[in-house]
Amino acid sequence: MSTFLSTLLQALLPAVCPVCTETDGVNICEHCIRQLPAIEQSCPACAAPLPEYGATCHCCSGMGFPGISELLCHWHYSGTMKLLIHNAKRRGKTAAIRTGCQLLTRTLPEKIPADAIVVIPPSTPQADKLHLGTELGRAIARLTQIPLIQPLQLTHRPHPQHQLSEQDRKKNMNTIFQCSKTVPRRILLVDDILTTGTSLIAGARALRQQGSKNISGICLARTIRYNERSYVDNDTKNP
Ligand SMILES: [Zn+2]
Ligand SMILES: [Zn+2]
Repeated sequence: MSTFLSTLLQALLPAVCPVCTETDGVNICEHCIRQLPAIEQSCPACAAPLPEYGATCHCCSGMGFPGISELLCHWHYSGTMKLLIHNAKRRGKTAAIRTGCQLLTRTLPEKIPADAIVVIPPSTPQADKLHLGTELGRAIARLTQIPLIQPLQLTHRPHPQHQLSEQDRKKNMNTIFQCSKTVPRRILLVDDILTTGTSLIAGARALRQQGSKNISGICLARTIRYNERSYVDNDTKNP
């Protein structure tokens, strides 16, 4: 179904919460908002949960991801947030994409030290549906008036990551992007979900080759690895 047609159909159908799809309303319902798995204290470098403000990050020891100066991410990829992202990405629901954009822009800091916004491109063609990451980038650009540019392109279709060892995953992703033109010095790099960080690292590497010196990252949600989970409150431990 074309993006236009599915958008039109969704607009004509009765408005329901894009997460639980039960409650009337055009936006995420209050119940679902309360269930969102927030990361309360996070490492400024990698956005992993911290046991308390100022604690040393057990995930990155404060080093963050190579080439990324800081990472903003307010939600754990589990429970209600996982459902929202599933509805946005897999089912292409425009209401879910819009809600994701609203949630992300609500958490933006007042000042973003960036000259341009760049989105990590989708790893598979998105011919007939909106791409969540791109819509997040557009929403940030609209709010901040920082221009959205799209200089990153895939160099090859990535092999399915789950079939690869940790080392091969890195190799697979290392040269996955190329940057087609000279880019500004300060970039805000946007992705929908952060899992291992390899997409952000590869995107930052390509941007640096074309002139970027300071790259910060922002994601809607982040997976939390086993050794990070002790910092997540009990409500989010069993998504
Ligand atoms: Zn709901
Ligand atoms: Zn960290």
